[in-house]
Amino acid sequence: MSVIEILKTNAEAYGIEISDDLGEKLEIYARLLKEWNDKINLTAITDDEGIALKHFLDCLLVSKAAQFKSGDKVIDVGTGAGFPGLVIAAAFPDVQVTLLDSTGKKLKAVENIREEMGVQNAEVVHMRAEDAGKKPEFREKYDFATARAVAELRVLLEYTLPFVKVGGTFLSLKGASAVDEIDGAKASLKTLGGKIEGINEFILPGGDKRAIINVKKISHIPPKFPRVSAQIAKKPL
Ligand code: SAM
Repeated sequence: MSVIEILKTNAEAYGIEISDDLGEKLEIYARLLKEWNDKINLTAITDDEGIALKHFLDCLLVSKAAQFKSGDKVIDVGTGAGFPGLVIAAAFPDVQVTLLDSTGKKLKAVENIREEMGVQNAEVVHMRAEDAGKKPEFREKYDFATARAVAELRVLLEYTLPFVKVGGTFLSLKGASAVDEIDGAKASLKTLGGKIEGINEFILPGGDKRAIINVKKISHIPPKFPRVSAQIAKKPL
C-alpha cells in the first residue's frame, strides 16, 4: 500500500476524511521528505507506514482538538520538517500558517516541499521562538499556536503563548507524558496567563499514545516574557 492508502484506511476510524486534493499533496510531501532526508537529518521516521501514521495522521488529529475558522492564523513553533504546521496548511487551505524554526537548513527543505505541494497558505520564518515572540509582528497575532516534540510543556508555554491572542489557544501535541507535564506546568501557566481547557487523548494504530493539550490564553503576558533562551533553560518557570 502507498503512504496515502495507509493514511486513508486508518484515518477513517478517527473520523478524518482525506480528500483527493489532500491525498495528492501529502503524497508529494512523503516523497520529498524521503528525498530531503537523504541529504539532511529531517526525521527519524522514513518508512511509508511511519510517515502515514506517526507523521500525517498524528498531525491531522489536531482537527479533532480544534475548530479552525476561515482566516484563522496558526503558528507552528519548532516545525522541523513541517509537523504539524505544513500538514495543517494542506488540510485547511483557508487558514494562514506560519512555520517557525531556528534551524535554517530544515526550513529550506520545508519551503521546497511547500512549494512542490502547491500549498499557498503557509510561510516559513527562520527565527528562535523566544526572539520572534518579542516582535510586534508576531506577538499576540495568532488564533492558534501548535508545537510537537519541541520541549516539555512548562518550557513550551514560554515559547508559544506570546504568539497567541488573548482568547486564542495553544495546541500542544504530546505523548504519554501529557498529564505529568501538565502537573509540572502549573507555575508556568499562572505566570503566562494560560488555562488548560482540555486534553484529547488518542491511540495511534500500533498502540502509541497521543494527547493534544488545549491551553487557552486568558490574559496578556508580562512584557519580560519570553526571556532569553539561556534563562529559559536555566530557570524554567
Ligand atoms: N515539530 C517537528 C516534529 O514534530 O517532527 C520537529 C520536532 S524537532 C525534535 C524540534 C524542532 O524544534 C527542531 O527543528 C528545532 O530546530 C526546533 N526548535 C527547538 N527550539 C527552538 C526554538 N527555541 N525556537 C525555534 N525552533 C526551535
